[in-house]
Amino acid sequence: MYRTVNSPQGARIQLDGREVINMASNNYLGLASHPQAIQAAKDALDQYGVGPTASRNIVGNFPVHDALERALAEFKEVEATLVFNCGVSANTGVIPFLVGKGDVIYSDALNHGSIIDGCRLSGAQIKVYEHKNMSSLEGILKEPVIGKKLIVTDGVFSMDGDLAPLPEIADLADRYGAMLMVDDAHGDGVMGPMGKGTVDHFGLRSRVYVETGSLSKAFGSAGGFVAGSKELIDALRPKARSFIFTASPMAPCLAAAALKVIEIISRDKSYVDKLWENREYFANRITKLGLNMGTTVTPVIPVIVGEEGLADRMSQELFERGVFAQAIKFPMVPKGTARLRFMISAGHRKEDLDLVVNAIEEISKANGLIS
Ligand SMILES: *Cc1c(COP(=O)(O)O)cnc(C)c1O
Repeated sequence: MYRTVNSPQGARIQLDGREVINMASNNYLGLASHPQAIQAAKDALDQYGVGPTASRNIVGNFPVHDALERALAEFKEVEATLVFNCGVSANTGVIPFLVGKGDVIYSDALNHGSIIDGCRLSGAQIKVYEHKNMSSLEGILKEPVIGKKLIVTDGVFSMDGDLAPLPEIADLADRYGAMLMVDDAHGDGVMGPMGKGTVDHFGLRSRVYVETGSLSKAFGSAGGFVAGSKELIDALRPKARSFIFTASPMAPCLAAAALKVIEIISRDKSYVDKLWENREYFANRITKLGLNMGTTVTPVIPVIVGEEGLADRMSQELFERGVFAQAIKFPMVPKGTARLRFMISAGHRKEDLDLVVNAIEEISKANGLIS
């Protein structure tokens, strides 16, 4: 049912018994198998064992959790963070904390599923605005509300690789007295000169009320977090249900690996630079082929082919040529916009990317997408 990986995550992986160039993982900085991250995880395993076996608010809090929260706060340039076992839990934990019955959430139509789930759990009224459409957002913000208002958006949208227009959204949040929440799971480690995220990219730190993120993408580990003011995080700690009810908090070895990755990228921007160099190289070559990359401005590069059957077939044909790229279909993306999605990593070598582009060219011609 699933393809099976039999190697560490990296530019090349063993997938269903053969070596392929991996264009499908969220391993943006190529750090999931960095020797120092692996060593940090091993050391934490020796020191703290495997499972936490209790929620952090009972006896499952380890020093590495606190260290990770401090490091993340420094990296994100916020007062405080709270680490969850995954980004899904961060979203489903924080949104119901921020708003409830009588309040209104303004949500981008293409927001991540876990944001949608958090919104539904909150009991607040949910008003959806058209993707990145500021007059659509302003239209619903104008409608009268008695309770609190929360605007929520992805920073980087994971299916198209486009960015939320955060400066305009922040202006509307100010004008209509709404809190602004950004989920930057695909922006952290990617956007901004030091990989501090989409909010930093736009220089909006002081104007975003709360951010959520994942440690499972550029940070190469697994886990999630909420970032904001000390007051907000202190209030959230005893309240977030996905935090207090789980005896599966982030495992200490995963926290140690994430902490090591933050240390590495905080002092060495070459990973972020390499990611963008690869992104530009790949995107230029795809553009030259005349393929449709949609609206991407990030290392998420879709090649939109339209029909679902065609996307599946092309994914299979790439696999046969030693490349793995996921076919993405409805309901992940609207009908008629099925695509292959290429996730660029700092770990890819130029030869890998050349091989991928050559394979794309070959099968795009064979399938009549280009001549
Ligand atoms: C991946 C993702 C999440 C979930 O994070 P996990 O740590 O994988 O649970 C949440 N929001 C967005 C936008 C994501 O892309």
